[in-house]
Amino acid sequence: MDYRRIKRILFVYVLMNCIFISLQNKEEVLLDMMASGGELGWLTWPDQNGWEIGQQAVNGTLLYNYFICNVEAREQDNWLRTTFIQRHPSATRVFVEIRFLVRDCNSFNADSLTCKETFNLYTSEADADIGTSFRKGQFRKVTTIAPDEISGLGDMRINTETRIVDNLSRKGFYLAFQDIGACVAIYSVRVYYKMCPATVKSLAAFPETVAGGENQALREVAGACVENAESEDQPRIYCTVDGEWVVPVGQCQCRPGYEAVDDACQECKPGFFKASVSNEACEPCPKNTRPSSPGAATCSCLDGFYRAPDDPLTAPCSALPSPPRNLVATTAQMAVGKLLLSWTPPENTGGRSDISYSVVCERCDARVCQPCGEKVRFEPSSTDLKETTVTMSELEPHLNYTFTVEARSGVSQLSPRRATSTINTALHYTDPPNVTGMTLVESSPTSLSLSWSVSRRAKPNTIRYELMYRKKDDDEAKINKKVTTYTVLVLEKTSVQISDLSPSTAYLFKVQALSAEGNPSSTGVEQEFSTPPEVPPNQGNTAVILGAVMGGGAILFIVVVVLLLNKRRKSSHARQDPEDAYFSSPEQLKPLKTYVDPHTYEDPNTAVLKFASEIHPNHITKQKVIGAGEFGEVYRGILKVQGRKELAVAIKTLKPGYSEKQRQDFLSEASIMGQFSHQNIIRLEGVVTKFKHAMIITEYMENGALDKYLRDHDGEMSSFQLVGMLRGIAAGMKYLSDMSYVHRDLAARNILVNSNLECKVSDFGLSRVLEDDPEGTYTTSGGKIPIRWTAPEAIAYRKFTSASDVWSFGIVMWEVMAFGERPYWDMSNHEVMKAINEAFRLPAPMDCPSAVYQLMLQCWQQDRSKRPRFGDIVSLIDKLLKSPDSLKTIADFDPRVSIRLPSTSGSDGSPFRSVSEWLESIKMSQYSENFNMAGVVSMEQVLQMKSEDIRNIGVRLPGHLKRIAYSILGLKDQTSTLSVFAV
Ligand code: AMP
Repeated sequence: MDYRRIKRILFVYVLMNCIFISLQNKEEVLLDMMASGGELGWLTWPDQNGWEIGQQAVNGTLLYNYFICNVEAREQDNWLRTTFIQRHPSATRVFVEIRFLVRDCNSFNADSLTCKETFNLYTSEADADIGTSFRKGQFRKVTTIAPDEISGLGDMRINTETRIVDNLSRKGFYLAFQDIGACVAIYSVRVYYKMCPATVKSLAAFPETVAGGENQALREVAGACVENAESEDQPRIYCTVDGEWVVPVGQCQCRPGYEAVDDACQECKPGFFKASVSNEACEPCPKNTRPSSPGAATCSCLDGFYRAPDDPLTAPCSALPSPPRNLVATTAQMAVGKLLLSWTPPENTGGRSDISYSVVCERCDARVCQPCGEKVRFEPSSTDLKETTVTMSELEPHLNYTFTVEARSGVSQLSPRRATSTINTALHYTDPPNVTGMTLVESSPTSLSLSWSVSRRAKPNTIRYELMYRKKDDDEAKINKKVTTYTVLVLEKTSVQISDLSPSTAYLFKVQALSAEGNPSSTGVEQEFSTPPEVPPNQGNTAVILGAVMGGGAILFIVVVVLLLNKRRKSSHARQDPEDAYFSSPEQLKPLKTYVDPHTYEDPNTAVLKFASEIHPNHITKQKVIGAGEFGEVYRGILKVQGRKELAVAIKTLKPGYSEKQRQDFLSEASIMGQFSHQNIIRLEGVVTKFKHAMIITEYMENGALDKYLRDHDGEMSSFQLVGMLRGIAAGMKYLSDMSYVHRDLAARNILVNSNLECKVSDFGLSRVLEDDPEGTYTTSGGKIPIRWTAPEAIAYRKFTSASDVWSFGIVMWEVMAFGERPYWDMSNHEVMKAINEAFRLPAPMDCPSAVYQLMLQCWQQDRSKRPRFGDIVSLIDKLLKSPDSLKTIADFDPRVSIRLPSTSGSDGSPFRSVSEWLESIKMSQYSENFNMAGVVSMEQVLQMKSEDIRNIGVRLPGHLKRIAYSILGLKDQTSTLSVFAV
């Protein structure tokens, strides 16, 4: 440690008196004139008329002294030298305490003109006693000594002065007192050096140490820990020139089994323990342990109790859990070979909270049971289950299975006992009946009515049927490797009418019965029927729409699924060619792409690979963390694929320790994003799924999330630019709604902005749509909803549609026009819902073009069928952008509402106390200094300001200028109260 640093520490320690360790210093005396009585043998020079030894009564005590009083003679030079004083090798500085008196020169008669009132202290170093040889030249002057009080005749005032003789280096030294004509008597000379006494501090012992001198003001001293204590670094302390200990460094702590008592480490008492090297006291042994003996570092567990490897020694020992209870196996609906196993947690957890379960599956044939093998799949997994259910799939029908569920905790591995429950179960499935014949009941140029029958005497009404059809011509398309569209209907009756068909066209129909579990029968009927040609209006009858009008088969739901004609979905694990399938809804046989919910894939991994291309991690370089998603960090990086240019990308990562479910949820975003291709939808570059660290790679958006971007550029963009951004978002949303994708979480925070200020919709995914969003609020039905962005019907009964996305788009419009302001400010979710129900809507943001605000209000129509569609929104915005003058009419703006300013008061209702408080409330604190410099220091002065004045003090940005001006306007209008606009 360098000297300057020690000094600094010392200084701090001096300031912080409380931690300054000042121990009584110690003096080691080298010479004491009084103690040796008259037998000093000091040398005087000159021999005659110089210093003399005498005796004098001072305050009634007889004292020896050396005196001289040649006040009337000129040029006095009288020396008195001590004997040789041996020095301690470490003591470079000694203190010389002199008790003396000096007579007042005025107390003599006028002849004593040469009279002095001071004398001098000298010293001379030597390695040995030089006896009586005395040479003035060998002495160096230490100081002149003057009395504080001088004595008169009969009035003796003894002075005590202490002087330092520093930088001594030889074996010893002499002191000498030189008189130059004073009347002096020296009664006592005491020579000593200072020591820091031996001490124990923070369980470290430090030896007695001689204090340093000018050259070594702080002496570093190493110490040693007391018995049964230890320290990582050697303890050290510093001894000051005054013999005081300061700045202890390094801490000794008692070893395990010992605690500090005063300056020592003592054994823990029986029944107590201390596990670590620390300053803590011994603790009583925890629950379920044996009483400890003295000096215990641990308390061992009682029989039948254990401590998990990760448990701290301070935790109680715990027992094994009891077995799981109420084990039940149920066949899962709609799926062959699936079984749901559920149970309730053990009655006794053994005192632990880390209970998990593992499931063992055995197949039992006659009397032999064997492990089920790897084919059986467990969802979420077969081990380390936190939940009390597991779904097993790929089980064989008609086989007996035994499932053993074990409750485990952190201590299970320490005991041979197992807490298990077992259940035997067999899977029995009903095969769906076969469909036997399909007949054409009625036809028209645009519709066909069909009916069919079933083989068995099953009640046909309890069976569901899957009908698939397509144009026959599409055979050709398939051969040419073009896409083939199948429309799939699930029906409850044995007849159906299909309309919206093309005249004179041959269609292929296939119908299969579905089992209770939803699996199609192995055989189905396939047949071809054609629609008749269109009859010109003046000839013949108009085609009759026949009786069964949909009534014959209520369409339960329309499954628009990828189907390979001859393969049952169950067995289709092979990867499908993306071109094999094409998706469409029955109403829309136009070749328009529809979004496919990745959940319709039994294996979500297939869905990812279908819609996203796999990238090798070697082609990806992560550069910097730019955000945090639900599943892990988001990085900026580079994608370099051979033969292609380097591309800036965003890399979403999946944090380690994920479950299979989380991995699938994470990748579902890619399965969704990969289906989209639009300028205003974030583009998926690919995925990494085949390596441990799954990643989603998307185009990089330099300006990040829109809400933050707007807040950072408050007031810096024109309405035209803002509306341009909204156009992009609307176009992206039109594309999504055309694909029947409902976003559910459209908000400025989920829009990304690139360097060209193009806005793109992002944040897709299944669970994450609402789970991940910090704005998501749990509703009574258990889902999570970002209340202030969500349409009332979606909040009330989860009716999420493109129309509810339009409502959210209206909120995004408001966010954009208000530069990222929080919708409904600090109103609570409850207040927002109440206001919306009472027909209140957000007021126009400042400077918002009237046409834009009108569009927002349209998006917020209570009746969702009255809201514009995204197509309408894009057209309207396009019109506005084509004639920028249409943006010039500004919507009515009430500053107190739009920037939520109570007219004359701060947030607590009291008037603004200062200009800076007011500026802070309107988020314009950055101008505090401008107001101050311009001398506007009170709210009275603020109220006098005009726009011109605001500009003159340096507020230049139009948005900021207006914000401040409007606020002043609002402050002046004291009669207005806070209100929200009603529609
Ligand atoms: P997310 O998980 O999609 O909500 O992403 C978290 C954050 O990462 C976002 O708020 C953005 O700031 C950032 N981010 C995500 N994707 C991108 C991207 N493609 N370009 C730039 N930043 C992104």
